[in-house]
Amino acid sequence: MKAYAMTIGGKSVDTSEHKDIMNPATGAVVGRMPMGSRADLDAAVAAARAAFPGWAATPDEKRKELCHAVAAKIGEHSEEIAAIITAEQGKPLNGLGSRFEMGGCVGWAHSTADLDLPVETIQDNEEGKIELHRKPVGVVGSITPWNWPVLIAVWHVLPAIRAGNTVVIKPSPYTPLSTLRLVEIMNEVLPAGVMNAVSGADDLGAAMSEHEGIDKIVFTGSIATGKKVMGSAAGTLKRLTLELGGNDAGIVLPDADPAAIAEGLFWGAFINTGQTCGAMKRLYVHESIHDAVCDALVDLAQKMPMGDGSKEESALGPLSNKMQFDKVAGLVEDAKAQGGKVISGGAPIEGDGYFYPITFVTEVKDGVRLVDEEQFGPVLPIIRYSDVDDIIAKANENPHGLGGSIWGSDIAKAKELAQRLEAGTVWVNKHGAIQPNVPFGGVKCSGIGVEFGEEGLKEYTNVQIVWV
Ligand code: NAD
Repeated sequence: MKAYAMTIGGKSVDTSEHKDIMNPATGAVVGRMPMGSRADLDAAVAAARAAFPGWAATPDEKRKELCHAVAAKIGEHSEEIAAIITAEQGKPLNGLGSRFEMGGCVGWAHSTADLDLPVETIQDNEEGKIELHRKPVGVVGSITPWNWPVLIAVWHVLPAIRAGNTVVIKPSPYTPLSTLRLVEIMNEVLPAGVMNAVSGADDLGAAMSEHEGIDKIVFTGSIATGKKVMGSAAGTLKRLTLELGGNDAGIVLPDADPAAIAEGLFWGAFINTGQTCGAMKRLYVHESIHDAVCDALVDLAQKMPMGDGSKEESALGPLSNKMQFDKVAGLVEDAKAQGGKVISGGAPIEGDGYFYPITFVTEVKDGVRLVDEEQFGPVLPIIRYSDVDDIIAKANENPHGLGGSIWGSDIAKAKELAQRLEAGTVWVNKHGAIQPNVPFGGVKCSGIGVEFGEEGLKEYTNVQIVWV
């Protein structure tokens, strides 16, 4: 079995204790993770602090060049890391799976490398010159989830190092192996100490959030943990970017064409078997086309191959871990008990692995947990409505505010309604699209701050005003 190592100060570091990492499709052990201690974290932070002055002082063009070199390295190792992601996380190699994730990593890394934050001149007249400079924050702690382990790591660490910070990353204990490998290959081109990785249990994340040697935390994960991070970061007044959970509403208007939108709705909800922050998690459909939309979605679900991600034909994989599997199954049982009608799926698939079928539950409404909470799995509640203003209000009553979408033929009307949703991103006739030059982030309980593009890069800097 392959053993993976942490990287601290450019060196490979192992530990005396390890944890086996399982393939959620088969239950097989796919590798073992070092169980890093508080002392390992302290060593990683010290390495990042030692490397910071040199990296921050490196000429901007050189940093840009090294970030492109990192992107190229990720490209060279894409197939290798895609296989690790599929083995530890479960998503298929193909379709919107691990090869797609690695393609995103390369694209995002190059695009982030190309970003610039030039000095801005605010005033230049006889009274003097005032400039706005962007300076790196210092040591950035990155804490990542298990759903898109490498893509989210790239989203965190590339802007951090592009802006001149050094980094300590801690991956999710469910999917640490691909990130440990990512950091190893990044260290083939970066100076020692710029990019460090520690792995271990959740308490390492808590220790990072309160660590005196870390200046900023970028965290992607659940709202509950995000609140804890914010609490523990208060003692050191750390800068924070929090990308948290979503419960995105999709609203289908009466003038939508069910056949034309079905595939967009399907993948908007079920990318990565629904384990995606910005996936559609509740669907409101006007009563006049409710049944036609349901039929089109069930038809697609029945055709979509779900299976072991390492099989080239699989389009959907298992749930990634037992915790998530139990949560999804529990939400469906609760919805059934509240009068929900399952029109497809609705019970775990027998056999190895955490497989749960694509499931649609109708005859539910707000107040049922499956509608109110983030399910993060292959289950979509479909809510019938008659009045669009009422349903926009319902969608907005939810504390989440990550994304939302409106589906219809009258684009001007759909756009006007989309802008009334309380969400960081709204889409018309699509759901979940993101790209590296477009800021992304949540409002309300879905987070603080944005990632991507110049707006995202700025989050890894402090403003310094220079009066001359
Ligand atoms: P999680 O909150 O359970 O864990 C996330 C990370 O936090 C892991 O690395 C974990 O080890 C660490 N952690 C656990 N306890 C901690 C503590 N007390 N202090 C600091 N760190 C701690 O989330 P998850 O289950 O891994 O991920 C799923 C969640 O992530 C979903 O809610 C999803 O919507 C959200 N998510 C959001 C985005 C976004 O961009 N908004 C993207 C992906 C996932």
